[in-house]
Amino acid sequence: MKYVERVLENLKKQNPNEPEFHQAATEILTTLAPVVEQHPEYEAAGLLERLVEPERVIMFRVPWVDDGGKVRVNKGYRVQFNSAIGPYKGGLRFHPSVNLSIIKFLGLEQILKNSLTGLPIGGGKGGSDFDPKGKSDREVMAFCQSFMTELYRHIGADTDVPAGDIGVGGREIGYLFGQYKRIRDEHVGVLTGRGLSYGGSLVRTEATGYGLVYITEEALKARGDSLKGKTVIISGSGNVAIYACQKAQSLGAKVVAMYDSNGYIYDPNGIKLDIVKDIKEVKRGRIKEYAQRVSGATYTEGCSGIWNIPCDVALPCATQNEIDENSARALVKNGVKLVAEGANMPSTLEAIEVFQKNGVVFLPAKAANAGGVATSALEMAQSSGRMFWSFEEVDEKLKEIMSNVYRNIDGAAKEYGFEGNYVMGANIAGFIKVATAMMAHGIV
Ligand code: NDP
Repeated sequence: MKYVERVLENLKKQNPNEPEFHQAATEILTTLAPVVEQHPEYEAAGLLERLVEPERVIMFRVPWVDDGGKVRVNKGYRVQFNSAIGPYKGGLRFHPSVNLSIIKFLGLEQILKNSLTGLPIGGGKGGSDFDPKGKSDREVMAFCQSFMTELYRHIGADTDVPAGDIGVGGREIGYLFGQYKRIRDEHVGVLTGRGLSYGGSLVRTEATGYGLVYITEEALKARGDSLKGKTVIISGSGNVAIYACQKAQSLGAKVVAMYDSNGYIYDPNGIKLDIVKDIKEVKRGRIKEYAQRVSGATYTEGCSGIWNIPCDVALPCATQNEIDENSARALVKNGVKLVAEGANMPSTLEAIEVFQKNGVVFLPAKAANAGGVATSALEMAQSSGRMFWSFEEVDEKLKEIMSNVYRNIDGAAKEYGFEGNYVMGANIAGFIKVATAMMAHGIV
């Protein structure tokens, strides 16, 4: 049995009941086979076995009191996966579906994504099964303070720098930072995605969505095309989805559909983003209100039907496994030309195969959504240097980073004989830097 297959088989045996982690590891390791075959020293150094085993997993109890005076207990996680190229970096997710498997899949992906940005950041991820939806601000604050009362021991500006993810936006980062500062008496860049009044960076809020659209435009440009006049579907209506929509519209695309976890809206005249922002960002409401406020728009319960709407470009920006094989087939049948992943692992392995077999340009998450973490690293640089860059300056750097990411994944795919296969390109390009650093550090 080949090295990669052996490592995968062992991983599944040693980590049973972690399907998302198996899925991410399978996608990554199978594409690394050509590199590993060229470097027998990796096997001798147990490099892949070490890559898939987190350096540290922290799991903890998060007790808090709700508005009715009832004691609630949630699970807290931080997986410090790999620090070969820099301090652990990766978001915190607060969502009822969070478990160790999901945090580990996200952490493993994060190692290669962070490497692809070209910046010195290692991989980590964390979160809780706490659901901020429907909670009062005081309840969210109580939870965040309790969460940080344990987490503060394990993080630091040069050790591990968490950020936001699903369910963790500006409000949550503010409460988490406030508690860290109170306990440690240190005003340092220990979290990114901070508010502009206390050390945040311009463009961080917009970064993942903007970056996704920048790399999409870059891939289209390489094919003599552009987003102008294209019909686009964006799933989700959270942070990534909203700013992907804004940038796509500003480049002349027509976004016709979006969703939240209850159902999707379709607006053939083009989504009015100010209304989506008012519903989701200001009122923390449900997307179905859009159809009540905009004539000509419709709302449908359930999410998967969104992929039956004809489009040129699909940008899944909600959550893992939102596009399965059937949805991928529907997209292909309706003529989709490009799929770029704003969310982490939104396409199943079977869906990716459908895209690749049918000549759809497919930009995987670790490249396509790297703009968020890249801008987090720019926030870290500004914090360390006690500097504050203008919107244009950060946006320009983000654009340059995304165009480098595209060049790197395209180049790596070509170099290894898989031209146009950006799953291979992204995994290989991200892996080489991490592997080189791990080899330099010896067996640690
Ligand atoms: P938000 O919490 O801001 O938004 C998430 C959106 O996805 C919401 O509209 C939510 O609906 C919807 N959603 C969540 N779970 C499901 C589900 N099971 N089915 C259908 N819809 C769902 O999160 P973000 O925008 O920050 O993150 C979205 C994705 O992007 C995640 O995969 C995340 O890991 C990834 N990502 C985020 C980055 C960032 O900078 N924020 C960076 C890189 C990747 P509802 O409103 O009903 O909850």
